[in-house]
Amino acid sequence: MALMRISRVISSLIFLMLTACAFMQGTQVTLTPTQTPIPLPQGTPVPTRERELHPIQTPSQAAVEPTLDQPMSCTTENAPPTYTVRAELNYAKRALKVSQRIRYTNASEESLTSLVLSVKPNGQAGVFSLQSINIIVGESAQYTLAGQRMEVSLPEALEPDCSLEISLNFDLRLQAIDIGGARAYQGYLGYSDRQTNLGQWLPVVAIKQGDSWITHEEVSIGEQEILDVANWDIRLSITDAPNTLRVAAPGSVEKISDSEWHLTMLNARDYSLSIGENYRLNQAVTPDNVTVELYTFDDAIITSDTGSMDTAAYALNTALKSLSLYEAVFGDYPLDRLVMVEADFPDGMEFSGIVFVGGEYFRGLSGVESYLTLISVHEIAHQWWYSRVGNDQALHPWLDEALATYSEFIFIEKFYPTLTDWWWDFRVNRLLPQGFVDSTVYEFTSRRAYINAIYLRGVLMLHDLRQTLGDDVFFGWLNRYASTGSGRVMSPEDFWSLLTPEQLERTKPIRERYLQKPQIISLATPECTAATCTP
Ligand SMILES: [Zn+2]
Repeated sequence: MALMRISRVISSLIFLMLTACAFMQGTQVTLTPTQTPIPLPQGTPVPTRERELHPIQTPSQAAVEPTLDQPMSCTTENAPPTYTVRAELNYAKRALKVSQRIRYTNASEESLTSLVLSVKPNGQAGVFSLQSINIIVGESAQYTLAGQRMEVSLPEALEPDCSLEISLNFDLRLQAIDIGGARAYQGYLGYSDRQTNLGQWLPVVAIKQGDSWITHEEVSIGEQEILDVANWDIRLSITDAPNTLRVAAPGSVEKISDSEWHLTMLNARDYSLSIGENYRLNQAVTPDNVTVELYTFDDAIITSDTGSMDTAAYALNTALKSLSLYEAVFGDYPLDRLVMVEADFPDGMEFSGIVFVGGEYFRGLSGVESYLTLISVHEIAHQWWYSRVGNDQALHPWLDEALATYSEFIFIEKFYPTLTDWWWDFRVNRLLPQGFVDSTVYEFTSRRAYINAIYLRGVLMLHDLRQTLGDDVFFGWLNRYASTGSGRVMSPEDFWSLLTPEQLERTKPIRERYLQKPQIISLATPECTAATCTP
C-alpha cells in the first residue's frame, strides 16, 4: 500500500509536469506552482416541516446496542464521525434492514445537549422507518423527526472532545424509479427492474455552524446537502437475488462470500453504491494508478450507419482523460478507484468515489460533441467540487456547480481545442442564461432557470475572472481552493478570501455583474497585506 502510494506520488509529479506542459502548448493555459495552502477555520437553517414527537419504541431482538460501557468518553483525539453499518438487502423486495452505529466526537468548544442527524431517505415518502434508537444500553433515546431532520436528545451533555455512540435500527423500503416522471431525479435512491441505487441512504450527523445544526428542506431543484467527511465501515449482505448481481461501490470493496460484501472508505462525505443485474464492467488505470470502473448495460452498445459502437468504451476513455487532467490542474484525487455507473435516472449525480451518468446519454452518443462527454466529465469534476471540497449545496450551489461546469470547458479546451466555440454555444450561449450566480436553490421555480443562473452564468463569471486575473493566477487560485478546502466545508467568503486585496479590487466589477450580494466580501477592504489578511 505504501509502495503503491509512493509510486502514485512519483507518477503524479511526472504526469503533472507532462500534463501541465501539454496543457500549456495546446491551449495557452499555464499552471504555476501553487502557493502554500492557507489553513482556514472551518446558513441559515431553512424551516423544516411540522415537527412531531414520536413515541419511544422498544428495540427489537435483532437491534444493535451501543458498545460503550459508558455512554460517553473523552479523548484528545478529534476523529471524524464513524459510521459502522450492517445492512441486509432482500433484493426481490428491494427492502433493507439496517443497523447503524454512529460514533461522534464533539469537536466544538461548547457542550451539546442534543445531536441532529440528517436522514436523507426520509425525504421520500414511505422509504425510511425507524425501529429503535439508543444511546444508553437498554434505554430508548428521545428524538423528533421532521422531514430529513432528526434531533436526538442526549441523556447528559456531551462536553468538548468527548464522544458518544448512537445506535439506530431502521428499515428502508426502496421506491421504484419514476422513469420519465417528475420524481425521476430521485432515482439515485430507488430501483428499476435492473438497477438498485443506494445514494445517501444512511443517516449522518448534520454540520453545526455557530449555534445552529444545518439541515435543509428537500426540494426538486438542485441538491440540498451540506456534509462533513466521515469514516465508513459497511457489511452488506444481499438475499433473494439473481446470481448476475454486481455491486458497484467506491472505496475498498471486499467480497466476503457469494452474498456478502465488506465496504470501507475513509474521509468521504457519503457512502453510496449501486447494485445491478447484468452490469458490464469496463475498467482501466490512469497514469497515476487510479482505477476507473465503468458499469453499464447492453444498451450502451448502439448501432449507427457506420456500424455498432460501445459508448461505454468511449465514456471510460473520457473518464480517464478527465481524471488525469483534473488531478494535474486541481490536485490529487484521494482514492485508488473511481466508480462510474450508467443510471436509470436522468442527467447524473455525484457521490464520493462514485458517479452516475444518465443512460440516455450512453444510448444517444453522437461523437465528442455530446452530453455523454460533458456530463461524464462534469460528474467526475465533482470529485473535487463536492467530494474533496464541500459546500452548502442548498445556499451556495454555485460553489460546486459552476466549478464542475467550468471544468467541462477546461476538459474541452485541453483535449478538443477546436470545439471550444461549440461548447460555449451548445452549453451556455444558446440558452441565453439569466439570473444571479449566488442564488439559493429555493429561489427558482424551474430546473432550467436554476441551471441557467447557477451553472451557466456561473461559468460566464468564472471565465471573466480568468480573463481578468490571467491564467496563472486563476488556475493557481482554483488549485489553492481545492487544497485549502480539502476535507472541509467552504463558503463563498472562503473562496474569495484566497485572492489578494489587489485581485479582489480588480475583480469587484465582475462580482457586481453576476452576484446579488457582491458586497458579502467582508475581506474586500482589509487594511493588510496579502500575507496577513488571508485567514
Ligand atoms: Zn453538477
